[in-house]
Amino acid sequence: MDLVSSRIAQLAPSLTLSITAKAKQMKEAGEEVFSFGAGEPDFDTPEHIKQAATEALALGETKYTAAAGLPALREAISAKFLADNSLEYTPAQISVNCGAKHSCYNAILACCDEGDEVIIPAPYWTSYTEMVKMVGAVPVIVETTEENGWKMTPEQFENAMTGLTKMVIINSPSNPTGAVYTRDELAALGEVALSEDIVILSDEIYEKVIYDGAEHVSMASISKELYDLTITVNGFSKAYSMTGWRLGYTAAPYDIAKAITNIQSHSTSNPTTFAQYGGIAALEGDQQIVTDMVDEFDVRRQYALARFSTLNNVSVVAPEGAFYFLVNCESMGLKSVNIAERLLSRYGVAVVPGVAFGADTTLRFSYATSLETIKNGLDRFEDFARSH
Ligand SMILES: *Cc1c(COP(=O)(O)O)cnc(C)c1O
Repeated sequence: MDLVSSRIAQLAPSLTLSITAKAKQMKEAGEEVFSFGAGEPDFDTPEHIKQAATEALALGETKYTAAAGLPALREAISAKFLADNSLEYTPAQISVNCGAKHSCYNAILACCDEGDEVIIPAPYWTSYTEMVKMVGAVPVIVETTEENGWKMTPEQFENAMTGLTKMVIINSPSNPTGAVYTRDELAALGEVALSEDIVILSDEIYEKVIYDGAEHVSMASISKELYDLTITVNGFSKAYSMTGWRLGYTAAPYDIAKAITNIQSHSTSNPTTFAQYGGIAALEGDQQIVTDMVDEFDVRRQYALARFSTLNNVSVVAPEGAFYFLVNCESMGLKSVNIAERLLSRYGVAVVPGVAFGADTTLRFSYATSLETIKNGLDRFEDFARSH
């Protein structure tokens, strides 16, 4: 008898693990490795946020809170939605979770039955497909193209719909592509979702990490009808450099919000109590820290974009958000894992192979690393690209 359930046995093993392990091994052996692998900001959590958590801890805020999170934090999130996104969510519609990854999982578990289909545009964040499988639902992948800026068109969405479609996942700004959907593009996708009452999971974790005057629009803010179909996911990890705090949140129509809180009350209960105080400080404190971080990312983005565009056998779409370049290496005629392995072993450059995002001709370069690393790493990538 199999000890592991068939649901879990079918999950993809982490394809990035071997690259990460090899990079570590090389570093330990004293070799120079330039890593573009980071999936988190390379800045420390701002001081006032750390202080708020430290104070909470000193004051004995070490017990359970409401399963959905501290009322004061949900109030702060509610105020954030109104101010930033023109969205009216009451604290009862908000659930604070153990990271936005957990928020996505809760949302999928709350809405999807066995056999339901979930439409996911590729390239996608690597966890969506596995989360969908974990709840017994079926990921349906829509391949977007570089020509369309790696965005799903309404026609593609419509063609992927069947009688079993329950949900669609939209991630704007996108990890790994950096694509940002415009208001009109979201509205057009929303129309398609409305035609069959498809739940929209809108992962807006990179909302604040946006460039070139691009505008972040929340799907739920487009119309009352879309508000009633949308679960908005956001969190603290990316905007406030708080990845290790494990704090994210969902905002949803009442029925779904209640279901999410119910799931949470029987699985994790509340996210860490003193971390939640840090969350309040992040939302209520000075937002200049976010702007400063994004400005720094933008310097790196522009530098890397200029470098990539001098190479004629790779192509990139200028990212408008997040902190990644998805580099298309199709003309090399190799699988992404093979390219990534070669890049690492012969050139000391670590990247994430695109197969992890359902895009096997691509590589993901994170620029959440120093300009110095980016410069040196791209010098080497240039040598690699010119010889392939
Ligand atoms: C980082 C990330 C998340 C979640 O981050 P948490 O640390 O769990 O809050 C969610 N979605 C995408 C696309 C991400 O890149």
